[in-house]
Amino acid sequence: MAELAIHNLHVSIDGKEILKGVELTVKPGEVHALMGPNGNGKSTLAYTIMGHPGYTVTAGEVCFEGKNLIELEPDERSRLGIFLAFQYPVAIPGVSVANFLRTALNTRRKAVNSGDKGIAIPEFRKLLRERMEMLKMDPAFAGRYLNDGFSGGEKKRNEILQMATLKPSIAILDETDSGLDIDALRIVSEGVNTLRGPDLGVLVITHYQRILNYIKPDFVHILMDGRIVETGGPELALTLEEHGYNWLREKNGNAGAADKVLSVDG
Ligand code: ADP
Ligand code: MG
Repeated sequence: MAELAIHNLHVSIDGKEILKGVELTVKPGEVHALMGPNGNGKSTLAYTIMGHPGYTVTAGEVCFEGKNLIELEPDERSRLGIFLAFQYPVAIPGVSVANFLRTALNTRRKAVNSGDKGIAIPEFRKLLRERMEMLKMDPAFAGRYLNDGFSGGEKKRNEILQMATLKPSIAILDETDSGLDIDALRIVSEGVNTLRGPDLGVLVITHYQRILNYIKPDFVHILMDGRIVETGGPELALTLEEHGYNWLREKNGNAGAADKVLSVDG
């Protein structure tokens, strides 16, 4: 089964422990929201699931379809069907959106079926046109260099376009809502909702409750000081909106306290 199961995950960056025993399971068809103050390890968890080399797993496991992903390279994880929409998408001048997506899609298809000859160009153009229409993107974007000169909102839409093209089994959206105005937020959320279904597990990482008005989660988790300190239903996000994180800090012995000093918007 294509479930993502994270057990006792400890991760360090440059010798500093950031994740301190994360437990999280995302099953196909489920949407999980991961919330928490800035600087508490949300992106670290996303990058670790994807296999970023700067993040050292010191204990625990990240399992997908019963395999421990820790041993695999990021591209191998991607081919297995894990997708990360970046908080800060990177520009790749010289590589067009269309070429990038077709290459990525063909690599994914080959992973599923080694005899696959790749998608025919007219078929790919049709697919791309449909997906771009869904995300209300100007078709001219297909010919532009990846994220080069894109606005914040355009970058985030482009991340969802990748997700819509690659059809992953597990999609992680890292603060896809940040930098989006309300119209873009609605379009991006509709895109995700369209892709939602029994074969897709989603982890929505967010700092604000706002996106969860559009993408209704089945579960909400709060990550503080490298651990998931609370799990609940959608109502947990509303409680946070109303009461902030302090009640959780008190309940958990001041976890994530550094953020109180460092973050102005947490
Ligand atoms: P969040 O996504 O919850 O805001 P992050 O996972 O980005 O938090 O960061 C958690 C902690 O790890 C922070 O203290 C941050 O400064 C540190 N950190 C993250 N990435 C790096 C890095 N590449 N090098 C050094 N420290 C990092
Ligand atoms: Mg982050």
